[in-house]
Amino acid sequence: MKPAELWLKPGKEKSLLRRHPWIYDTAVARVTGRAEAGATVAVRAADGRYLAWAAYAPASTLRARCWGFDETQRIDVDFIAARVHAAVARRAHLAADSDALRLVFGEADGLPGFVADRYADWLVVQLQATGAEAWREMLIDALVQATGCGNVFDRSDSATRQREGLPATSGVLRGVTPDAPIEVVEHSIRYGVDVQRGHKTGFYIDQRDNRLLVRQLAARLAAAPGRAPRVLNCFCYTGGFSLAAAAGGAGELLSVDSSADALALAQDNWARNGFTAAAEWRGDDVFDALRALRDEGRVFDLIVLDPPKFAASHHHVERAARAYKDINLNGLRLLAPGGYLLTFSCSGAIDVDLFQKIVAGAVFDARVEAQMLRRLGAGEDHPLLMTHPEGEYLKGLLLQRVG
Ligand code: SAH
Repeated sequence: MKPAELWLKPGKEKSLLRRHPWIYDTAVARVTGRAEAGATVAVRAADGRYLAWAAYAPASTLRARCWGFDETQRIDVDFIAARVHAAVARRAHLAADSDALRLVFGEADGLPGFVADRYADWLVVQLQATGAEAWREMLIDALVQATGCGNVFDRSDSATRQREGLPATSGVLRGVTPDAPIEVVEHSIRYGVDVQRGHKTGFYIDQRDNRLLVRQLAARLAAAPGRAPRVLNCFCYTGGFSLAAAAGGAGELLSVDSSADALALAQDNWARNGFTAAAEWRGDDVFDALRALRDEGRVFDLIVLDPPKFAASHHHVERAARAYKDINLNGLRLLAPGGYLLTFSCSGAIDVDLFQKIVAGAVFDARVEAQMLRRLGAGEDHPLLMTHPEGEYLKGLLLQRVG
């Protein structure tokens, strides 16, 4: 059967010619032939030229996502399986550091809207696009085959599904119900991960390298003469950076989060590792906590600010910028001379240059002197497709206070 065709308006082929994988509804002139939700369509320029094979999403403003640009390629079960196997194989070298890994990262791995994470003996998947949903069984079969792991849990309950007109789904797809929580070991630290109810698929896998950096910075501070480093971890969630700092030799740790559930799991995680540092867990709003800490006269040698996404879209950039400025300004005021600040934004709508400007403004207003030592990002299991800059969401800066 001849596949349906999605015809673009004149001039709208430019981004596809540069291999950008997304087609918005505003670029579409018409669809010819029968195209069900998730069906593969041939994308054509207004002059009839073939451009790409794409998955059709009639309910979404993101109307189609490209599988590939080669006209001779068949988009079939073998194609899907090959992409999954390749994605898994590319990450093999990371398995030594951790048994929490992102195995498939959507567009970056040529599988738009499909995310798969491994936590020890469980796979957790998110099907966030109509095309991925149409290939659900084949994707999961391939994943089980590529990993040899037979337990699959579905967390397709993110807001992106709504925008695609897909219902939220969650639950066991293959094998057995996950332990609550699942234990993973990352750089020899134990973390419990609640894949059923946690954020994303349960854990911020993307921060692995930055957790290691926090551990190294804490160790560097601990090796210097003087007191054991005092660490403040804001938006601590289940304690990722807190545990990393403790493993590095932090003497005192204060972790803040407004969620009682997150703090309970963080404390459970703390107990799993038998750390001896003094740990305080504060259930509070970080915006308030930073001000209160200043009033209390507290000072820290290492501060992590890893908030939730403040800008959900381009419409929220200004308000989000003010929020980032506020926490960075008030965080910097608590930083000891020589101390480190790791500050993050996971808002896709705020790019790294804007984020750096916001933080520079906070440094200025805090009346401290600080150097930027590094830019930070997600780990290698969260690659960025060079033709799809929208895929870059997590960005961070490592600053050191010098005066
Ligand atoms: N840094 C974490 C991930 C942060 S997720 C990690 O590495 O694992 C964002 C966290 O911020 C969530 O746990 C959420 O409960 C918390 N949060 C959101 N808004 C907050 C606020 N205003 N004050 C304190 N915590 C907040």
